[in-house]
Amino acid sequence: MKIKYYEIDEKKLLKEAKKGKKIGIKLPEGFFPYASKILNFLEEKGINVFLLEPCYGACDFLEEDFKRCDRIIFIGEAKMPYLKYKLSFIEAKYNFDIKQLKRTFEYNGKKVGLVSITPFVHKIWECKKFLEENGYKVFIGKKSRRTAYDGQILGCDFSSAMQISSQINNFLYIGDGFFHPVGLYIATKKDVVVFNPIEKRVYKVEEIANRIIKKRYAMIAKAMEAKKFGIIVCIKLGQRRIRLAKKMKKLVENAGKKAHLIFLNNIDEKLNYFDFDCYISTACPRVAIDDAGKYKKPILTPIEAQILFNERKSYEFDQIL
Ligand code: SF4
Repeated sequence: MKIKYYEIDEKKLLKEAKKGKKIGIKLPEGFFPYASKILNFLEEKGINVFLLEPCYGACDFLEEDFKRCDRIIFIGEAKMPYLKYKLSFIEAKYNFDIKQLKRTFEYNGKKVGLVSITPFVHKIWECKKFLEENGYKVFIGKKSRRTAYDGQILGCDFSSAMQISSQINNFLYIGDGFFHPVGLYIATKKDVVVFNPIEKRVYKVEEIANRIIKKRYAMIAKAMEAKKFGIIVCIKLGQRRIRLAKKMKKLVENAGKKAHLIFLNNIDEKLNYFDFDCYISTACPRVAIDDAGKYKKPILTPIEAQILFNERKSYEFDQIL
């Protein structure tokens, strides 16, 4: 089945859907215009199926979702192996001609670290072979407990990149968007060359990443005056970091300030209406970094909070490992 410019495996979708009596579907935002196409396909095959809240990643589901259905199918996400629930993952795949990687040659050093995301990661070994045939030494790091494939990165998990970082001249990120390659640059402090197969474009993210780091330091400075802190704990099962949130509460209190935990599912503009002066988000790192513009109060990652309270000196990207 064609969804946007991606392919999804109909047979696998149907096979997974037959594993439950009531199937809840989770879609990322970009797939909303194809919701009824997917639901009709399954219903016509006799499946009792409905949509659940959309998802930002394979981390994005709640215990209470299982009161409505006995299996959740994520479309367009790869499995997050450590989460042992009744979940199925139907990846969306984007196919492209790997010869297009020739356009990255002028940017790459001789030793390249390959990383990617779904829906491109299925091509990573083919890309490695092509680069090696063209004289490069190519490294691919091992998958983690949160990733399904070697070389795969998430916006909250760059472990496959970090383990090969000292062996390479630069990373070659195969994928779209900015959030992942910018996070990769900040997490590894290595040069990142992006090959975007959809736009057929090669670009670098160093400038954007350095601009973001500057903005983050400005956010930390803005938080210095804060007296009342809200510590956000996301209740999504793959984002929940309660222990870290409690650690943050202590960190704030040890500095003689007030802190309270806030348990939330969706983190949105409601934060503007609480009477906290500053938030520390233990949820997905996107919340503090990508969505900061939505909020009137400063919102910090746990790493930034440590910098604020002099527990850490250098900037690092927040990861859920
Ligand atoms: S926590 Fe955020 S970055 Fe990590 S998988 Fe979930 S949505 Fe993606």
